[in-house]
Amino acid sequence: MQTKAIDTWKIGAVKVTRVIDIIQDIDLTFLLPEATSDNLAPMKSWLQPYFLHENGKAPLSIHTFLVQTADTNIIVDTCIGNDKPRAMPDWNKRQGSFLEDIAAAGAGREAIDVVLCTHLHVDHVGWNTMLVNDQWVPTFPAARYLFGKDEWAYWKDEEDPFGAEAKIDSILPIVESDQVDLVESDHQVTSEVSLIPTPGHTPGHVSVKIESEGQKGVITGDLFHHPVQFARPGWKDIADVQSEIAEQSRMAFMEQFEKDTLVLGTHFAAPTAGRIIRDDGFYRFEV
Ligand SMILES: [Zn+2]
Repeated sequence: MQTKAIDTWKIGAVKVTRVIDIIQDIDLTFLLPEATSDNLAPMKSWLQPYFLHENGKAPLSIHTFLVQTADTNIIVDTCIGNDKPRAMPDWNKRQGSFLEDIAAAGAGREAIDVVLCTHLHVDHVGWNTMLVNDQWVPTFPAARYLFGKDEWAYWKDEEDPFGAEAKIDSILPIVESDQVDLVESDHQVTSEVSLIPTPGHTPGHVSVKIESEGQKGVITGDLFHHPVQFARPGWKDIADVQSEIAEQSRMAFMEQFEKDTLVLGTHFAAPTAGRIIRDDGFYRFEV
């Protein structure tokens, strides 16, 4: 299944473009064991058709957001990458068109000023590097790569359970090239773009806030893998490193951003962006 790879939103003067690396249909219980068809039934009316298929599978999109201000091109999360040896068959040694796609979206790899990883899991760092003459080199030669200080402090001595090789081929080469800036979890990237700490999925996980000309947007990162988590923030996500802290971050995020903020989901399938709405004490996602 392939939907349109490129989609664009405006938040004030800031342009955000989604560029998909890969979409996979998964059994949601793989990530959220409580997301059985019985438990999903009350949310079906708003999860379908975009976030839950008739057959019970859910689309999981792995995409980047190209965030463009007047003078800065920022890429938020770098997906799976090409040529990377990975245990997951769909991720192994991919030959995708990501670089052509970001160029078509408005900024080729040489034009990227900032690479921002919401966290350092394997599906968020892949395009940090590319294979040139059997070497992993930074894909974005002119960019500063922003890693959360707390995030790196955790992963430098840990293995990613979903892809230990990623540190070797997608993180360490950036550290060695001196292109990494370790930043605080509330770092101001530009006058319109800043980080907010949303720990729990990983200890130094951040979301990305955009404020411009009175409009607000936020990129979730993996605080939310799937929109059902707005309604069920306490369901255990097997990829969360710290479940309780992640749940607290999800609650605080929804309180802060409900209604008037455009919420862009890092793994949400198209249409990807919407609003968090609360009625009768429950949150849902409205696209
Ligand atoms: Zn992810």
